[in-house]
Amino acid sequence: MIPATGYTGKTVAVFGLGASGLASSASLLAGGATVKAWDDAEVTRAKAAEAGVPLCDLTQEDWSEFAALVLAPGVPLTHPEPHWTVKQAGAANVPVIGDTELFVQSLNAGAGEAHLIGITGTNGKSTTTALIGHILKSAGRDTQVGGNIGTAVLELAEAAPGRHYVVEFSSYQLDLTPSLKPDTGILLNLTPDHLDRHGDMAGYAAAKAKMFALQDAHDLAVVGDDDAYCAEIARNLTGPERQLISVEHEVSDGVCVAEGALSQRREGREVAGCSLLGIDGLRGRHNWQNAAAAWVACRRAGLSEDEILAGFKSFPGLIHRMEQVARSGDILFINDSKATNADAAARALDSFQTIYWIAGGLAKSGGIEELKSFFPRIVCAYLIGDAADDFAKTLSGHTAIKQCGTLERAVTEAFEDASADGGPAVVLFSPACASFDQYRNFEIRGEAFRSAVAALDGVSLKSEEAA
Ligand code: ADP
Repeated sequence: MIPATGYTGKTVAVFGLGASGLASSASLLAGGATVKAWDDAEVTRAKAAEAGVPLCDLTQEDWSEFAALVLAPGVPLTHPEPHWTVKQAGAANVPVIGDTELFVQSLNAGAGEAHLIGITGTNGKSTTTALIGHILKSAGRDTQVGGNIGTAVLELAEAAPGRHYVVEFSSYQLDLTPSLKPDTGILLNLTPDHLDRHGDMAGYAAAKAKMFALQDAHDLAVVGDDDAYCAEIARNLTGPERQLISVEHEVSDGVCVAEGALSQRREGREVAGCSLLGIDGLRGRHNWQNAAAAWVACRRAGLSEDEILAGFKSFPGLIHRMEQVARSGDILFINDSKATNADAAARALDSFQTIYWIAGGLAKSGGIEELKSFFPRIVCAYLIGDAADDFAKTLSGHTAIKQCGTLERAVTEAFEDASADGGPAVVLFSPACASFDQYRNFEIRGEAFRSAVAALDGVSLKSEEAA
C-alpha cells in the first residue's frame, strides 16, 4: 500500500467507498491524515466501517476544515450535474481530487525514482495496460499494474528505484488527477463516449488531454494519429517529446503497423520493427494500435526489440476482449462481451471473415449504423436484449437475422447454423451494447457466453486445450 504524503495532520473528506475509496482512506490514514469518509449507500458504509474506515456524515460537517475531497471516479464531477459533495467542496474552496491524485502526489514526492506509464483512450486502455505490464514483467522488470484496469493504484507496492508503474486512467480519473505527470503518457484513440459525464466531445477530449498537461521535455507523449480528435491533441503538444502511432499511415516519428508489419521511424527513417502476424493475443487492427503504443513505451523503458517481441508472442490477451473461448473443428467461439459500443464491436467484426454474429443488449446512441461496411462478412445476426428490434431494422436487407431473446438461444442457433454451413467460421459474441438489461456487468455476460458455449456438444474449451 502507498501512504498518501502531503496530508499529515490535515483532515480529508472521502466520498464513495468502493475499492478506490477504501484504499484512499487507508492510504491517508497511513500518511497521518484525519479521514472523514462517507457514502450514500448504507451497505457500502457498513463494509467500510468493517474495514476500519472512519465514517462521518458529510452532510453535517463544516467543509472549511477539509484540505481536500477525495471523490470516487464514478461520482459526477460536472455533468449531468455536480454531486452534492462537489458543490459543498466548491463553496468552501476545497480541491476535489481522486485516489489517482494521492498516488501521483506520492510518486512525484519520491524524486523520480520510479517510472510512471499512464494509458488512456476510448478503447483499448485495459488491453494496452495489460500488454505493457506483461512485456515489462516478462523481461524481468520490476512492474506494478493498476488503476482503472483493476487494482486501485494506492494498493500497489510503494515506489522503489527502477520500479515501473503501468496505470490505466479513465477520463473521470484524469479529471481528478491535476498533478499527473507520467514519464510516458499514452492516448490511444478518441471516439464519442461518456458524453453524459463530460457534456460534449470537447469536454471529453479536454479530459483525455490532461494526460499530457504537465509533461515536459524529459517526458514522452504517445498519441494515436488515426482520429481527428487525437491528431489535434498531438498537434497542440508543446511540452513532451511526441511519438505518433498509426495503423493507417506512416508516421515520421513513431510507430506504424500496416498489414501486420510494425515499423518504428525516427525523423522518417525506419529504426526498428517486427511482424505481428500470427500472434493470437494481438489479433485485429485495433490490437496493432495497442501493440504500437506498447512498443514505443517499452522501448522508452529500455527494453530490446527481442524482449518486446517475446512479450507480444506470450501475451495471453484479456478475458472478454476478443477472447477465444473454444473451438469446434474450424469454428472459433470468440467472447468480446467488453464491446459495449459499436466502435468496439467494429474492431472484432474487422478481425474475422465468415461471422455468425451475436449482438444486442442495452443500445448506446447511434446504434449499429456505423457497422454497415462489415455487414457483408456477417452470415447471420443472432439478436438479443432490448436493442434487438432496432438492430434488426438496421441489418434488414443486408444479412439474415434471427431474433433469439437470450444469449443461450443465440449461441445454440449460431453454432447449429455454422456447423450446417461447414467451413471456417466464427461465432462472435460482440454485443455493441451495454449489458445492464440482462446482466449486472459485461464480465457476468461474458461468463454466460462461455457457459453457453461449454454446454454445446463437440466443442473443446480453450482452457481445457491449454491444460
Ligand atoms: P478499455 O479499457 O478502453 O475499455 P479494452 O482494452 O478493455 O478497452 O477493450 C474494450 C473493447 O474495445 C474490446 O471489445 C476490444 O476488442 C476493443 N478494443 C481494444 N483495443 C482497441 C483499440 N485500440 N481501438 C478500438 N477498439 C479496441
